[in-house]
Amino acid sequence: MSCKPVSLKAKIVLQLLVWVPLLATAFAIYSLWGRFITSKDLIILVVGYTLCALGITVGYHRMLTHKGFEAPDWIRGFFLICGSMAFQGPALNWAATHIQHHANSDEDEDPHSPVKSFFHAHVGWILDDFRPDVQRYAGPLLKDKLVVFISNTFVLWALLSLVIPYLIGGWYGLLWGGAVRMFLNHHVTWAVNSVCHTYGNREFVTTDQSRNNLLIGLLAMGEGWHNNHHAFPRSANHGMHWWQIDPSAYIIGGLEKLGLIKSVVRISEERRAKRRVSADVAEERDVLPGVILETGAAAAVMAGTMAEVVTQAAAQHPPL
Ligand SMILES: [Zn+2]
Ligand SMILES: [Zn+2]
Repeated sequence: MSCKPVSLKAKIVLQLLVWVPLLATAFAIYSLWGRFITSKDLIILVVGYTLCALGITVGYHRMLTHKGFEAPDWIRGFFLICGSMAFQGPALNWAATHIQHHANSDEDEDPHSPVKSFFHAHVGWILDDFRPDVQRYAGPLLKDKLVVFISNTFVLWALLSLVIPYLIGGWYGLLWGGAVRMFLNHHVTWAVNSVCHTYGNREFVTTDQSRNNLLIGLLAMGEGWHNNHHAFPRSANHGMHWWQIDPSAYIIGGLEKLGLIKSVVRISEERRAKRRVSADVAEERDVLPGVILETGAAAAVMAGTMAEVVTQAAAQHPPL
């Protein structure tokens, strides 16, 4: 699944997926002058945006990639289908790409680090020859029949996310609920990769450049608290203070209260306090149970830490 060159057809599709929503959004804004947006258009846009965004944040990211909670198949299926509708690729590809990001964050093997360039981190990496290595980074997920099925039928769900707004609102429904919604979903998610590794504050010590950013926190359903997330990837909550708005965590908390999901991963204040003063690479690389990450910075830091321990021990206990 890895290392195959990207075909010309795939390159054309990727270019279209990036530029068509941008041009369609410009057209949608232009068309406002000739025809006011109706409440129906706005509802289709807001509902579509919210479902797709939660599909990515709650479904693809916190549930599938990091196993931040456990859910029955009907809830997993719902969120994974919503995630597929966001046009960000099949669930397995998304998870593998994201785990590769955590494993090599802001190092050479990071698929989308702003260390290369802000444009590369935002969208350039998608237009490049990047291919996710599902076997290597998301191997355990290949045993999950539901995940494999929804991943393999990605095109169906993605197209459905265009057909539904068209059936409800005609061509303008497709414009607002399809293209504009896709444009917003894409750029807000991509901003987590670009903006949240460049601008914002850092509460926890991590080996990467991750930041907490209020604006992206609000737009991306809580995913903008990205330094918190890199410090504790398994945590179902990315917001870690009452003022760090995290709608995805509120949905997860609500489902837990209703008894619909279980084993929600949360981080104690004691663990947080430790990470405010020092890095913990093992905790940073604990991204998905069953995936052992010892690549890139992790391996270097682990090797460095081990060398340091050995050196210190040797200094304290010189050989006789
Ligand atoms: Zn990141
Ligand atoms: Zn993550």
